[in-house]
Amino acid sequence: MTRVVIIGAGIGGLATANMLAKAGYDVAIYEKNDQPGGHAGMMEIKGFRFDTGPSWYLMPEVFEHYFELFGKDVNKELDLVRLSPAYKVFFENESPVIVTSDEKRDAETFEKIEPGSGEKLLEYVARGDDIYQLALKHFLYTNFSSVRDFAKFDVVKRSHMMTKLAFTSIDKYVAKYVSERRLRQILEYPMVFLGSSPFAAPAIYSLMSALDFREGVYYPKRGLYTIIESLTKLGRELGVEYHYASPAARITTVNGRATGIDLADGTHCDADIVISNADLHFTETRLLDKSDRSYPASYWNKREAGPSALLMYLGVRGDLPELEHHNLFFVDDWKQNFESIFKTKTLPDPASVYVCKPSASDDSVAPKGSENVFVLVPLPAGVSLAGKVLRDAAEKYLQLIEQKMNIKDLRKRIVVKELFGPNDFEEKYNAWQGTALGPSHLLSQSAMFRTPNVSKKVKGLYYVGGSTTPGIGLPMCLIGAELIYKRLAGDRLGGPVKKIHKLPEQQ
Ligand SMILES: Cc1cc2nc3c(=O)[nH]c(=O)nc-3n(C[C@H](O)[C@H](O)[C@H](O)COP(=O)(O)OP(=O)(O)OC[C@H]3O[C@@H](n4cnc5c(N)ncnc54)[C@H](O)[C@@H]3O)c2cc1C
Repeated sequence: MTRVVIIGAGIGGLATANMLAKAGYDVAIYEKNDQPGGHAGMMEIKGFRFDTGPSWYLMPEVFEHYFELFGKDVNKELDLVRLSPAYKVFFENESPVIVTSDEKRDAETFEKIEPGSGEKLLEYVARGDDIYQLALKHFLYTNFSSVRDFAKFDVVKRSHMMTKLAFTSIDKYVAKYVSERRLRQILEYPMVFLGSSPFAAPAIYSLMSALDFREGVYYPKRGLYTIIESLTKLGRELGVEYHYASPAARITTVNGRATGIDLADGTHCDADIVISNADLHFTETRLLDKSDRSYPASYWNKREAGPSALLMYLGVRGDLPELEHHNLFFVDDWKQNFESIFKTKTLPDPASVYVCKPSASDDSVAPKGSENVFVLVPLPAGVSLAGKVLRDAAEKYLQLIEQKMNIKDLRKRIVVKELFGPNDFEEKYNAWQGTALGPSHLLSQSAMFRTPNVSKKVKGLYYVGGSTTPGIGLPMCLIGAELIYKRLAGDRLGGPVKKIHKLPEQQ
């Protein structure tokens, strides 16, 4: 039986393992940390259950499709609720805006702020949805190995529009629809999900607004980690082996072919196929001998890492009625905020922040009479921030949240406080420059320009996860797993996999 070794139990590694086990391969995962999930981990402290990373369940059809491949219904696997409202946005000097994910109601909200913008929002979302449907059909589930897929009528028909959007920044594109600053920020902020800035990300990503205004924002009860639990449950049913606290130290090769991995404890694991779900820069520069690397140092010097972050996991005594489930605070000087993260590489002050309160929709994540709060402050990648400097930065950002989200006594009511910063991303996940997300989705790092999921030098070596194709985010990593299956199945076409077939033996 073909033996597959996967380095890393992030969502991409877990999802790939299930597909290949179902396709008849013998699959083992070796994970550095003592729990699966990678960035999408979980932490339980004093009765609070914190998701360590993701909190937005977007692109629900991608999850649905993935589970269907195994004859499972995602709604039975996960206890999903559609959030209403979807999120609340706070500003420096104006009153908050609520986004409901009901297009008509949101259009009314826009209209009240800027006359004429209601219709414009509907137009913007419809266009974004059109691009999203096109992306699902032709651009996301593809290894870009056949031009046939792009010669399709619906792609050709939109090629002029797509080219224009590819070379326009989201910021410029949004300005054609709305001019009021707050409305522009609401349409532009999802670029942070893609590790990018609205001043640099291509307007094709306006598809993101179709997700939060039309598709809706969902939440699986007991948290996003239930996705990881569900994937590992499925993996165990399929015979996947899981090895935790087992860091890989080297990918071994003979005559340009992967032969397995050496673990840090000196053990060797034989394999016919090696798949690395670890950060791609780390895999290339630390796990492979120089002669086996696909990219020289100059390649990485020209790439841009997505932002790092300061994360805070807070248990708070009492209620926080000021907050909804998802809350965002945007500074007025939006451009300066992104420049400090991507250009000057300084700590943003003041900073735009994201605050999640899952206990708004779920009693199981906090003890009775308390709130579960997760804070994310996007910071520049490549900066060192630890110890007292990290704690002082956290204190400053908590003060900002108190003032701008109108929670006067937040800091006094904190009973649990865990911090996670840029150095932790590097140490815990081997993340390139301590990025929280992976390489930014600039045009030059998206679609066919993203670092591909197969080694150019070593046969039988593949990559999966946020740092390769199609990119950042839980649903994208599930698609990434399908892309590995497609490579092994010799399936060169775009679109989701229809059925998992037995794969040919690879010895
Ligand atoms: C704070 C934060 C918020 C986010 N919010 C969202 C959100 O709301 N919605 C969303 O969809 N996405 C979100 N994301 C993005 C999403 O979490 C990631 O894109 C996704 O989890 C990345 O998965 P991955 O498959 O790339 O693996 P990773 O999570 O990167 O896991 C890789 C695994 O490899 C392991 N590893 C590394 N080196 C080795 C080695 N030498 N040997 C063995 N194992 C190794 C690591 O320990 C890790 O477990 C967020 C991310 C963060 C950090």
